[in-house]
Amino acid sequence: MKSFPYTVVYTRNRNAYVKIQEDGTLLFSVPQRYRYHQKELNVLLDQLFEIGEKLYQRHSLRPKLDKRDEQWVLLFGEKVAWDTLSFEYALLQQENWRSLLEKRLKAELYEYATIRIETFTQQLGVTYEKLSIRKAKSRRGSCWSDGRIMLNLALVHLPTKYIQYVIAHEVAHLIHQHHQKDFWDLVAQLYPGYSPVRKALKKMRLE
Ligand SMILES: [Zn+2]
Repeated sequence: MKSFPYTVVYTRNRNAYVKIQEDGTLLFSVPQRYRYHQKELNVLLDQLFEIGEKLYQRHSLRPKLDKRDEQWVLLFGEKVAWDTLSFEYALLQQENWRSLLEKRLKAELYEYATIRIETFTQQLGVTYEKLSIRKAKSRRGSCWSDGRIMLNLALVHLPTKYIQYVIAHEVAHLIHQHHQKDFWDLVAQLYPGYSPVRKALKKMRLE
């Protein structure tokens, strides 16, 4: 008998992971392929249980979530408890939550931005090559003439209107590599009313 309440689900995901659900119980997500391989499944579950145990203890020792501390992260402008985000099993073993969190946030921004970029590029009838998310000192984003787009990871903390503006800006650079009127017309086409958002973003320090 395990000392924590849990559920095991089989999914199409490639990796196994453990997460704490909102009701405080653990969810073990196991790739389908383990289902009919009892021995491998038991080995995997043992490892997951070990991680789950630690997560569960940390979770129950945790002060109430209404306190603002390191366990909160700003995701798209909203506070979320970082350990309710699900982490990949392999990463969990490192027990280095900062890098886990960073990786997780990268994935969140990547997913959000990809959908936006695809919508915007379709609107303009252009294609892009690749999106990368990086930690950058001051740049919000960059766009190269070969179609690569880079976004600053720090954007993930901001409300989505800012992220949308930065993406509209970088996508417009796929057509114009300057900041003249033609360029801003394109930005306005992708993101009508961008101007106050742009001004507010200019005043922000990204961290
Ligand atoms: Zn620019």
